[in-house]
Amino acid sequence: MAVVWLDDVRAADLGTVGGKAASLGELTAAGLPVPPGFVVTAETYRAFIEDAGIDEELFEAVDVDHEDSAALKEAHERAHELIVETPVPEEVREEILAAYEEIGEDAFVAVRSSATAEDLPDASFAGQQETYLNVQADDLVERVKECWASLFSQRAIYYRNRKDFPHEEVDIAVVVQEMVAAEKSGVMFTSHPSTGEPRIIIEAAWGLGEAVVSGTVSPDNYVVDRGTKAVETATVADKKVMMEKDEETGETVEREVEEDRRNARVLSDEEISELVELGERVEEHYGEPQDVEWAVYEGDIYMLQSRPITTISESGTNPESETVEAAGDGGAEVASAGNGASGDGANGASGDGDVLVQGLGASPGIASGEARIVTKLDHLDQVGDGDIIVTEMTMPDMVPAMKRAAGIVTDEGGMTSHAAIVSRELGVPAVVGTGSGTRELDDDQPITIDGDKGTVREGVVESEDVQREPIEEARPKTPVKPMTATEVKVNVSIPEAAERAAATGADGVGLLRMEHMILSTGKTPAKYISDNGERAYVDQLVEGMRTAAEEFYPRPVRIRTLDAPTDEFRQLDGGDDEPKEHNPMLGYRGIRRSLDNPEVFKHELEAFRRMFEMGYDNVEIMFPLVNDAEDVYRAKNLMREAGIDPDKRSWGVMIETPASALGVEEMAGAGIDFVSFGTNDLTQYTLAVDRNNENVADRFDELHPSVLKLIGDTIETCRELGVKTSICGQAGSKPKMVQFLAEKGVSSISANIDAVRDVQHEVKRVEQRLILDSVR
Ligand code: PEP
Ligand code: MG
Repeated sequence: MAVVWLDDVRAADLGTVGGKAASLGELTAAGLPVPPGFVVTAETYRAFIEDAGIDEELFEAVDVDHEDSAALKEAHERAHELIVETPVPEEVREEILAAYEEIGEDAFVAVRSSATAEDLPDASFAGQQETYLNVQADDLVERVKECWASLFSQRAIYYRNRKDFPHEEVDIAVVVQEMVAAEKSGVMFTSHPSTGEPRIIIEAAWGLGEAVVSGTVSPDNYVVDRGTKAVETATVADKKVMMEKDEETGETVEREVEEDRRNARVLSDEEISELVELGERVEEHYGEPQDVEWAVYEGDIYMLQSRPITTISESGTNPESETVEAAGDGGAEVASAGNGASGDGANGASGDGDVLVQGLGASPGIASGEARIVTKLDHLDQVGDGDIIVTEMTMPDMVPAMKRAAGIVTDEGGMTSHAAIVSRELGVPAVVGTGSGTRELDDDQPITIDGDKGTVREGVVESEDVQREPIEEARPKTPVKPMTATEVKVNVSIPEAAERAAATGADGVGLLRMEHMILSTGKTPAKYISDNGERAYVDQLVEGMRTAAEEFYPRPVRIRTLDAPTDEFRQLDGGDDEPKEHNPMLGYRGIRRSLDNPEVFKHELEAFRRMFEMGYDNVEIMFPLVNDAEDVYRAKNLMREAGIDPDKRSWGVMIETPASALGVEEMAGAGIDFVSFGTNDLTQYTLAVDRNNENVADRFDELHPSVLKLIGDTIETCRELGVKTSICGQAGSKPKMVQFLAEKGVSSISANIDAVRDVQHEVKRVEQRLILDSVR
């Protein structure tokens, strides 16, 4: 038998039908309303490749060096070709089509991959195989084959090779199920997804559920108390778009929602109680909280999928009590040392010795160790595990040494200098802008730094609390993730931090800086290209981009093209050729440099093109330091020249200069999808305060009324124009800024890794207050 009906499938059939189908079979058996369907079993796929004799060739074709993108592409193309061009045996084809006829003549069906090893390696594997909607008899068998072939997408091959997961051990089943032409649909958590409390959370939007699952639309959110069955909150979102079947082509298309339904409530109280009842039955059946996809068609509710919720914390901590109560303190950033660098125990103990030098607390936490004065890059080898780097200014390729170090002290730099940003991301305590650290501290001197207070004291604190977790392993200490309508994303500067960033549960990456993908080579782009060739340069970029895009898939990852000032590049090999600038902050950087030197810029765009080609459709392109519409149109043209269709990809710009804030309407005309406030630069350019200059650090105020006015007005204009807004400057981690932005209706906030959890809670608080205000 090539196929088996969902009615006959149980959880025990996982190996034959894959996780998705096994779950649908269970739901069907439990008497829940599941659209009828059947499964083309994993054995059918296996027999297909073995009987046709293509199996060995297939596995050989994909046994390649996964870091070699050309080889990866070739492997994918060969595997795809082998599967798609090999005919399906006639009896299998007939069996599939006969089962289809039983669902209904001319029925529209969904064809979904259900890999049998799907939930083995890890969750991100699940999203890698294809799904086709609104399929009919004509192309059904071809679509099944496409699902089989999707086992060998570039992403999937890369992923399995990297994890040493044998390709031979993954099989794939395909679910063919009647389409529900959903009028409304969404997801339901049968218990609170973070705390496990007996609350049902429902998200709902118009049309097909793909819009909700993919994050294309902000859904309505309903919270129901399972004890009283009362709807505690109903937050109605502005649902601009919906997905539905195009009546002519049968394809799934995105449409604008009619004006009168955009802000209308999707679910009635009756529908909610019906969903709640179904939700309770599903949870009871599985004996644990479930994450359910559902749809409503002609008044009936259908269950489309159910999975256990994996995000509930064991501790059952109350989310609100975990939040750092910093809401009233506009200056302090929201987070405490998120990855364990600080600790109450260490705080008291560090107060012993004299303060040797004082600077700005740029990355929180206490660290003790021997001072290691680094004045030249070749001194970096001398930085041992647990030392404290003392340097004039962090240098571009210090990152490996920064990972070994217990802490960092710099002479120069402000809170938003790249030294501060990178230290925070690595979770290493830092004091920047001491003015004289390299002169006043001695090599080997035992010191203790406090990254909150900005002090460097004599002596070492012996405490377990000062132990830092390795960057790849550190996880947020507050496990509870609240659900918010405003998305909360995370900033990533160093690709190695991506895994830790993803573990925060952030809704995506709001800013991934390309700089480090180049700085880490120790060479300027021009030097790298002249030594290693153009191809190697693009590979280098692709590798960094992929680390983050893979880690977050399918959550969006916004990657910014190069923005390194000449003084950062000067320290690299090849840096002598950098122009000497009186004021690099106002100089040759960002999009102005890229437009001036398209020969280098085009390689960055080529790296994006390759990412899209590999299937990373979660990648978004962002241009830094634009000033006006002309900058945007020119960048857009180069994007097109590089083979990227701006209409098909999500792209946007940073708002970092007053000119760009004031000219946002004209820039929107170029077709941008989003803007993101780079408040580090926007503040420096609005207030004329150099962000790297410790002498004026007390004047650097991202909450200055003029900065806020530029931001507030820009959000308002963008809302009218349908352009999404975000923030990715350091101020996005400050409670006052979070409050301001959430109230103004910003679409997303991107925070530092260690601040994500607290920003989520802060956003939640503001949203709840806005809801309460509106009903009072
Ligand atoms: C900013 O300016 O706020 C920003 C995020 O960019 P960068 O810090 O890289 O200049
Ligand atoms: Mg900037």
